[in-house]
Amino acid sequence: MSKHIHVVVNPASGQNEPVLNALNEVFQPTGVTWSVSVTKTHGDARRQASEAAEGGADIVVAYGGDGTVMEVVNGLVGTGVPLGILPGGTGNVFSIEVGIPQTLVEAAQIIVGDDSLIRQVDVGHCEKKDWEHAKHFLLRVATGFDAQRINLTDRKLRDKYGKMAYFIGALRAIPETKPVKYTFTLDGEVVEIEGVTCLVENAGNMGIQGLSLAPDISISDGLLDVICVYNLDFASLSSAIKSITNIDQDPENFHHFRAREVSIASDPSQSIVGDGEKWGKTPVTIKLLPGAIDVVTPGGES
Ligand SMILES: [Mg+2]
Repeated sequence: MSKHIHVVVNPASGQNEPVLNALNEVFQPTGVTWSVSVTKTHGDARRQASEAAEGGADIVVAYGGDGTVMEVVNGLVGTGVPLGILPGGTGNVFSIEVGIPQTLVEAAQIIVGDDSLIRQVDVGHCEKKDWEHAKHFLLRVATGFDAQRINLTDRKLRDKYGKMAYFIGALRAIPETKPVKYTFTLDGEVVEIEGVTCLVENAGNMGIQGLSLAPDISISDGLLDVICVYNLDFASLSSAIKSITNIDQDPENFHHFRAREVSIASDPSQSIVGDGEKWGKTPVTIKLLPGAIDVVTPGGES
């Protein structure tokens, strides 16, 4: 029996390109059968992915940006059906993290490629008392950020600071903030520290090829990287990044923990952003689901 591929298309994603022709060109000669559903509103991608998995799809593909990929993952976790990614958004950070080519035809070729690999990737699982369902994330949950301004990174900053610019851009977008008291419960151990922002990272990638907050943040090590930043100036960021890479530890500016599960409370309560979406306010509990999603990736990638 031939493979069936279902593609969830977010037509409102950032790229202006014809999708169906390209998919037909790549999929048709391989003998797979394929179907497409189009999202209209928030929540459609999750539902369509889940229905496609239940309906027997062998691979469910997200065409869109990180928001669409996250929704499709929310529909696929627990089904065992692999995720394919066609980077069609303005932000395609997760696809970059797993080495997916950034053009539609090349990315589609990976989905039907004979030498493609199914890679098990960790998924973040986030719960709050007032939510009906847990939410899953692939990149990171941040607290204390202004959701609207997370991506404020201009070219000047990139030219000046190179690879660190995205991180600096994200952090400088935060309005002048005084540190607040955070209480972390990390795999049962309680830690109280002050900070202005906290990042719980599944993937370290900040959005451009090869750029990662730290090279040793892994999406398949079964651990969350919890980073609490005390100071937002450049010097402390620099020492913070060094501390993550184990060159230099400066506990006054930056704390870095690894855990399978972390609960975060803060006084006063801080806003939460999960994979770029507003998720209310602290407290929050985040777990890692090791290897919870299978992702179709290029062969030869580690
Ligand atoms: Mg990890």
